[in-house]
Amino acid sequence: MTQLILAIDQGTTSTRAIAFETAPEGGLQPLAVSQVALQQHFPRPGWVEHDAAEIWAATLQTCRAVIEKAGGVGRFAAIGITNQRETSVLWDAATGEPLHKAIVWQDRRTADATGALAAAGYEPMVQAATGLILDPYFSASKFAWLLDAVPGSRERAARGEVKLGTIECWLIWKLTAGESHVTDATNASRTSLMGLETLSWRADLADLFKVPLEGLPDIRGCADLLGVTETSLLGAALPIHGAAGDQQAALVGHGALDPGDAKITYGTGAFLVANVGATPVTSTSRLLGTLGYSVGGAQAYALEGSIFSAGSAIQWLRDGLGVIADSAQSEALAQGLADNGGVYLVPGFTGLGAPWWKPDARGTITGLTRDSSPAHLVRAALESLAYQTRDLLDALAEDGAPRLSVLKVDGGVTANAFAMQFVADICEVPVERPAFQEMTALGAAKLAALGVGLIDDLDDHPVEPPTRWEPRMAAAERDRLLEGWRAAVKAAIIAAP
Ligand code: ADP
Repeated sequence: MTQLILAIDQGTTSTRAIAFETAPEGGLQPLAVSQVALQQHFPRPGWVEHDAAEIWAATLQTCRAVIEKAGGVGRFAAIGITNQRETSVLWDAATGEPLHKAIVWQDRRTADATGALAAAGYEPMVQAATGLILDPYFSASKFAWLLDAVPGSRERAARGEVKLGTIECWLIWKLTAGESHVTDATNASRTSLMGLETLSWRADLADLFKVPLEGLPDIRGCADLLGVTETSLLGAALPIHGAAGDQQAALVGHGALDPGDAKITYGTGAFLVANVGATPVTSTSRLLGTLGYSVGGAQAYALEGSIFSAGSAIQWLRDGLGVIADSAQSEALAQGLADNGGVYLVPGFTGLGAPWWKPDARGTITGLTRDSSPAHLVRAALESLAYQTRDLLDALAEDGAPRLSVLKVDGGVTANAFAMQFVADICEVPVERPAFQEMTALGAAKLAALGVGLIDDLDDHPVEPPTRWEPRMAAAERDRLLEGWRAAVKAAIIAAP
């Protein structure tokens, strides 16, 4: 009987469970899926919360649904978990109940706290130790906020009565009925509390952020045994044998396993993760140093950069300007023009991310003439994806990362063949889109399948071949376009308040 893997993909807007089976060719393919939407809470401007109890209930519900669809728990060999990263939970060890709403990665409430640490000169030390800049994005300041907000919880955490963790840690705790308080090293690498080289918590950082070490989970490898489910929950004691944060799981899902392999997920925003090999690289261009994965005691490190507005620029054309009726129309409109007519759109709707880091920059359009049409705006929006990717790849190169051999892509925007060809052209790198798009869940499934011995390695073994775009633009044309883009970015930054 086939042995299946149950992948839990706990994301920002939904919780999903997917059953994977091993394909005869060696890869993993999906068999059944169940999904539940997750309610977002915005109690104040800049604050974003989730209800950890709701996340747990949805996890249990989707797992049970998928197990049933796939023919019963007896068919499953193991569970793998991937999750929204950095989101922070505080709970009572005795009752297993959250003591506060979870603080979501997007939440900016601790900006003053991390800003004060940066002003006091701690950033170089924190970056050298963890790879991360000082920012409210990461879990440490969120943990500290929770411990401040719940009276007595810091002391109770120091006594082991109160637990801290990111979402995979919370789910493992619940799935094991409190037997396992563990995290995987990729999720731990997003807290600002773990030494990136040692993969262990650092007492100096715990002191700096005022987070008691005793409240933190044990750190494990991504394909280690992380716990065994309590029998009554799913009908059997299943080993949880894989876990990784969502972007890292996608790296594994894509099979971006060698230095020089990189993946970028083009959704609402875009997240680039580049494999840099067995030793961490410290960024001098404000990319994030992070762990790609840790398997069997061997590490792949990564550099990461985010683009704040990718698909959201297309959404704006549709919902804000009304120049397209649906996202897919953008392709034909852009393709219908011979070139961009000198029009550039810098989609700084919510500021500019890496490598510019200009939170106050705003969206800017340059080069308009009387000839400019809605199609030029559409084309400029699609082209901006490629230019922003190029800026990230240039930052990678500046940091001494290995030269990219291929850029693996996934996410809603990759349906757009014009945009993908333009990325290949502007970035001078082949672009590959896998036929199966659920790279995050696939990554978690692969880790668990490896951990439990169902597969021998993390290679991608795609069941269907990927679509590939080769760079074919002449260098002079590319240089001319990049010059126009850089002038537009300058205009966006100068115009910032
Ligand atoms: P997320 O996971 O961030 O919600 P998805 O991966 O589902 O995002 O991608 C959705 C995004 O993809 C939307 O912003 C949408 O505008 C964009 N998108 C979808 N289809 C296309 C297309 N054919 N061309 C360009 N953008 C597209």
